[in-house]
Order: sequence, then C-alpha cells, then structure tokens
Amino acid sequence: MQELLNNIVAELAEETERGKVADYIPQLAHVDPSQFAISLATVEGERFSAGCATTPFSIQSISKVFTLTIALGKLGDALWSKVGREPSGDPFNSIVQLEHEGGKPRNPFINAGAIAVVDAIMMGHEPKETLGEILSFVRYIADDNSICFDHQVAASEMQHKDRNASLAHFMKAFGHLRHDVDKVIGTYFHQCAIAMSCEQLAHAGLFLASDGVNRPSNLRVVSPQRARRINSLMMMCGHYDASGEFAFRVGLPGKSGVGGGILAIAPGRGSLAVWSPGLDKYGNSLLGTRALEMFAQRTGWSVFGH
Ligand code: GLU
Repeated sequence: MQELLNNIVAELAEETERGKVADYIPQLAHVDPSQFAISLATVEGERFSAGCATTPFSIQSISKVFTLTIALGKLGDALWSKVGREPSGDPFNSIVQLEHEGGKPRNPFINAGAIAVVDAIMMGHEPKETLGEILSFVRYIADDNSICFDHQVAASEMQHKDRNASLAHFMKAFGHLRHDVDKVIGTYFHQCAIAMSCEQLAHAGLFLASDGVNRPSNLRVVSPQRARRINSLMMMCGHYDASGEFAFRVGLPGKSGVGGGILAIAPGRGSLAVWSPGLDKYGNSLLGTRALEMFAQRTGWSVFGH
C-alpha cells in the first residue's frame, strides 16, 4: 500500500496541468498549487501516507459530510423535510433549482443544502455554541484536538458572501431557514474554514468505512444504516454536477471541497484523503480525482468491483 501511494505521488509530481486554485475566496488564491498529499486509514488500523500529508488545508465542502452527520443525529429523518437527497446536476452554488423547487435544496452537499443543514443544527443554540459543537465532533472523529478553524479563510468568505447570502435569503423567503441569514452563513463559512491535513481527514472519515464505528476507539458514531446512507449521498451528490463522472472514474463515495481536498470512502476497507489545490471546471480537485482513480484501478477497491 505504501509503495502504491508513493508511486501515485511520484507519477503525479510530473504533471504540469494541475488545474486552477479557487480564487473566488481570496485567501485560497494564495495556496501553492504544487502541493500534493494522499493518506489512507484502514479499518484494521493501518495508516499510509505520501506527499505533504501533515500539512493542513481548508477542507471547505468536505465539512458538509460532518455537519450532515451531526444534523442527522439531532433531527433523524425529520431533516429530510428541510433538504432533499437527489443529485442536483447543477453547480455547487446554483440558485436556479431552488426557485423551481420552492426553496428546498436538492441535497445536503450543494451550498444551499449545507446552509439548510447548519440552520437545522443551530436550533436552540447561539452560533458560537454550534461552531463549538461542529469542531468538537470533527476533533472527536479525527481523534485530534489540534484541529482548528482558519479564521482568515472564514473572514475572507464573509467578505465575499454575496452568492451564499443570496441562496440563504432565497430559502428564508420560502420559509426554509429559521435563523438570521448572517448568523447562518457565518457558521457555514466557519465549518468550511476548518483546516485539516490528509492524515487527519482520512482518520475522520474512517467511521463511514466501518459501518459507523470509529477506529481505533471502536466507539459507535452512527448506526450502520446511517453510515450506508451518508455514503450513498456522497456517491450521488458529493461532486456537484460532476458526481456522475466521479462515480464513473473512481466508483467510491466521495466528497470534494474547493480547497482541493477529497475524502473518499471504501466501505469495509478504509478512508482516503487526497489534496491537490488546483481544481477542474466543476470545482473538484483535478489531480486529487486522478489520484483516486489510479488508486481504485490499482487496488480494485471500487464499490462496483474492478
Ligand atoms: N465555502 C465554499 C462556498 O461556499 C464551499 C464550496 C466548496 O467547497 O465546494 O463557496
């Protein structure tokens, strides 16, 4: 496994076409696009990494997997009255579907859906408490208390909030958001601004690879059924309007973020995190996707077989 990861890093290091870093969040525009990392945490407790796997990066939309897990823990199936579970086929920050569908977002992984999810988590709490809850959960599943928000990234997003604020106002106008728009999107920007390394992220995703049980603690995070459902949503909706392409090429549940990270789950086997900051035109890591495709091809770990 270690050799396989080393080979992937070596082969991709020669790549000159690395995609484009997200610059609509100015703080992310400064990130060096030549960085690359991959980590694997197996359900048996093994860890393998190659590249700069201890360098923290902005997890961005990967955080939506964690807030969805928290929201399902709090609301159970009642969450599905607030957000759907169908792929959108539209870009991550699109507003068009919201109008047609009465302000209810298609799924928890597009921006509108994640904003609705955080609004649900906030019920009965101050934004600060909600942020504390999200960070504690991520630290718990990653078994690492050093994980923090990058406040500069959150502030950078807040300064360029118009698009996400529009989505939130639109949902609120339809009665789909309870809290003050600035408070909800402020919380959402902070969850996206959590900084984690590939090693930490691979560990954090492990409960989804092992029927809802965290490793190595063996403590249950979610039921096996909930883990399966979250994996299904990642497979169908985790890469926005390129989710079909990711399923075709990699065949694993995955969630990308515009920081260039991807978390991919091989159920029963392990959790993988990759990071390469350059994105394709859909906002997904260009080389990160390539790396996962190489990994799936060489291991046969795709959920659809070899
Ligand atoms: N914070 C980002 C935004 O709202 C998340 C997008 C992403 O990672 O895909 O635009």
